[in-house]
Amino acid sequence: MSQSQQGRIQTVVPTVKLLIGGEFVESQSTQWRDIVNPATQAVLARVPFATAQELNAAVAAAAQAFKTWRKTPIGVRARIFLKYQQLIREHMKELAAILTAEQGKTLADAEGDVFRGLEVVEHAANIGSLQMGELAANVATGVDTFTLLQPLGVCAGITPFNFPAMIPLWMFPMAIATGNTFVLKPSEQDPMVTMRLVELALEAGIPKGVLNVVHGGEEIVNGICDHADIKAVSFVGSTRVGTHVYQRATLAGKRAQCMMGAKNHAVVMPDANKEQTLNNLLGAAFGAAGQRCMSASTAVLVGTAQNWIADLVAKAQTLKINAGVEAGTDIGPLISCAARDRVNGLIERGIAEGARLELDGRKPRVAGYEQGNFIGPTIFSGVRPGMTIYDQEIFGPVLVVLAADTLDDAVELVNANPNGNGTAIFTQSGAAARKFQEDIDVGQVGINVPIPVPVPLFSFTGSRASKLGDLGPYGKQVILFYTQTKTVTQRWFDDSTLHAGVNTTISLR
Ligand code: NAD
Repeated sequence: MSQSQQGRIQTVVPTVKLLIGGEFVESQSTQWRDIVNPATQAVLARVPFATAQELNAAVAAAAQAFKTWRKTPIGVRARIFLKYQQLIREHMKELAAILTAEQGKTLADAEGDVFRGLEVVEHAANIGSLQMGELAANVATGVDTFTLLQPLGVCAGITPFNFPAMIPLWMFPMAIATGNTFVLKPSEQDPMVTMRLVELALEAGIPKGVLNVVHGGEEIVNGICDHADIKAVSFVGSTRVGTHVYQRATLAGKRAQCMMGAKNHAVVMPDANKEQTLNNLLGAAFGAAGQRCMSASTAVLVGTAQNWIADLVAKAQTLKINAGVEAGTDIGPLISCAARDRVNGLIERGIAEGARLELDGRKPRVAGYEQGNFIGPTIFSGVRPGMTIYDQEIFGPVLVVLAADTLDDAVELVNANPNGNGTAIFTQSGAAARKFQEDIDVGQVGINVPIPVPVPLFSFTGSRASKLGDLGPYGKQVILFYTQTKTVTQRWFDDSTLHAGVNTTISLR
């Protein structure tokens, strides 16, 4: 291709804008990267790595907007999110199409991604009852104490590639509904659906400067962690980056919450409903090409359930691998060529380390999408702790199967794994399920539910190495994360003789 052709092609590729102070602006950065359709390798747009000056401008706009936004009546804030949820519903198909084009997941799953975020927006519309304080009357004679949940100031969010709609919507709606202003840093791999959601948020009435967006990678994230005017950082992504973000942000005096990597075990008891269990397990292992932090990537077959592998493999072979836009697709491509190569490398490692490759999904032929980053469903049995495919998060369509003699052995295995994001038990026994829910040391537990992500009436509750920071990213916990609790203790003097005299004790009287 000639240089002039290259130049012409580059000029027609759209650029992803920054949002600063209510304006969508072109970055002045000299560093950009392509956003690529993972099924075709077509370049959809280019995203900038924003400069330090652009981050400063975004934070300054958010700090300025906070002065008025923090005192905006609750009803005004709530009505913006009522309108926003309506706009998201009206644009559901468009949002899903953008998401599938840049991320690869199927259209139905892309709608699910948007929907799980929409649920948080609906919850944000209920901010009036969520952000109420408490009051105790007469804590001493004529003295009342009450709490105010006050916004912190400028908050920031850093999001991963795998849920480019849901996870930004975990963050900015609740931060803004509680009276904060926000700087969002979406994944540089698929920021387009996030930006469409941001446009709709402005259309819903979020004022200038209350929501800002910068793009980039390591440098801009470090800039967010260090910035003196940012009060809290919410991060979702890998354990490696999340640990760094948590340490750097808290060292700089910020609140931080980091939801990170996982290895989610599905424990299958021999009394489980076999048909339902295998279907649930495969959906949770291979949906979104295994690129979910809550995917059931690890099966622990207990006792005679170990005989179910042949049926598991037979069912997995019926799953359809194709581009996410094609009807009937079960498994779309991985996000990038690098992700595909990494997963293929881990499969090779599994074979080399002695696990049994029951189903090999490498190099599937997908007619019409020969350039796509596809890997088909892959199943290993005979997996043990110490093997790389057990010790690492694979984040691809690979299910590793371990064996356990008893429920106690299975619980011991799960609890010995450092990760604590999610787990599930499949059983028809209430006693086994109850024992599991009591003894398992994992934040989110499913009982015959393979991906137990709580709805926003609750909070996301990953634990141990999957999470840093005490409070989860949505639900009731996030109200506390995004606010400072202030207690006010008050007395009004209406009688000059009551409490007469100087009180030098600590007691109220
Ligand atoms: P990632 O950690 O590579 O990227 C997350 C964010 O960090 C992105 O915005 C990225 O730009 C930024 N980043 C990347 N490298 C950085 C660096 N060196 N320094 C500072 N910032 C950096 O994660 P990903 O690949 O986008 O997402 C997949 C991971 O996210 C998986 O591990 C998955 O389990 C995890 N995840 C966890 C949850 C959860 O709730 N626990 C949810 C979704 C995804």
